[in-house]
Amino acid sequence: MRPATLALHAAEPARALGAPVTPPLVAATSFYTDPDAIGFSANDLGADAPMFYTRWGNPTVALLEQRLAALEGAEAALGFASGMAATAGLFLHRLAPGSHLLLSDVCYAGVAEFALETLARYGVAVSSVDMSDPAAVAAAIRPETRLVHIETPANPILKLADISALAAIAHAAGAELSVDSTMATPIATQPIALGADWVIHSLTKYACGHGDALGGAVMGRAAPIAALRKEAVIHLGGAISPFAAWLILRGLETLPARMALHERNARIVAEFLSAHPRIRRVYWPGLESHPHHAVAKRQMANFSGMISFSADDDKNLARRLAERLKIWSYAVSLGKAQSLLFHIPADDVVHGSFRLEGAAAAAYRDWTGDGTFRLSVGLEDPADLVEDLEQAMKG
Ligand SMILES: *Cc1c(COP(=O)(O)O)cnc(C)c1O
Repeated sequence: MRPATLALHAAEPARALGAPVTPPLVAATSFYTDPDAIGFSANDLGADAPMFYTRWGNPTVALLEQRLAALEGAEAALGFASGMAATAGLFLHRLAPGSHLLLSDVCYAGVAEFALETLARYGVAVSSVDMSDPAAVAAAIRPETRLVHIETPANPILKLADISALAAIAHAAGAELSVDSTMATPIATQPIALGADWVIHSLTKYACGHGDALGGAVMGRAAPIAALRKEAVIHLGGAISPFAAWLILRGLETLPARMALHERNARIVAEFLSAHPRIRRVYWPGLESHPHHAVAKRQMANFSGMISFSADDDKNLARRLAERLKIWSYAVSLGKAQSLLFHIPADDVVHGSFRLEGAAAAAYRDWTGDGTFRLSVGLEDPADLVEDLEQAMKG
């Protein structure tokens, strides 16, 4: 089956007479068992164990996991309460005191803060590098590097990283590659096929698509995902609620169709912004002017709906947009049906989140100016989206 079909039918339950056509929400936390069916320790959890307790597994969550794995072309997927729970769980599972995490210099701020503050407190060495430069990545790998973590496109400035090049570099050094593919979605990019060991999603974003549920997932090979389930979900406890999983399953049904529209609308908005005199630089992977457009063409089958731009006098423009926009919402998050826009001052993230110094801090500022506007282009009529930006920026 192809993606649009997988999103609707992958792993669907048997079509028995009288069975529901729509996946049911199973809100139960425990399931009938018997003394021989399953051990009480998570260490005894076998691959074909029956449902037992919802933190270990749940039918609604299992369907979401199977559908995500099918869309990603992965052997297995594991649901989490949020994208942060997924990333933190994977990092804690794969890293130990004395090991080294090589992190993208620009990534989701919460991930950078967790790595640089919390992991460092537990004795994991963390350093960051520009993941759009494979030679710099190769030079930054250490003998103790266990994990290379990238985001492509990277939140919030939409830099890209070449997944297959970085997978080869990580593997040659005996490390694994994890890819946060939240912005690309499996419709654009399948990192496993490009050599990644782990794929992470904040399901809160495009996968859900409606901005009404938090969720996360990690995809990979079956045995490592089973080990991750035991440590990062059963023991750390960040399991996704069945209701959130059910909402995200519903969102996934339209993911392929939505991504086609997000991309179409983003192209129109990006072209409008590129021609606007107030705007200095516009970044959308589908624009030929994007510095990593060649990588985008190679590894993105859809350029997604995320745009970033920089402008002179950005703080005043942010205030003006927050006050004047009528269709766009001045709000964080991304990937929902309604269009969202948010301004991120460079100082906030360069020092507070990413801890960039010297040339790395200068490179960030060179890309964004004093701040970056992050746009999540929604499903409204693109002419209305353009007119709304035009009226808000005028004068
Ligand atoms: C939102 C986001 C996260 C965190 O996900 P939550 O579901 O909010 O915890 C991680 N990575 C990226 C790229 C994101 O956009």
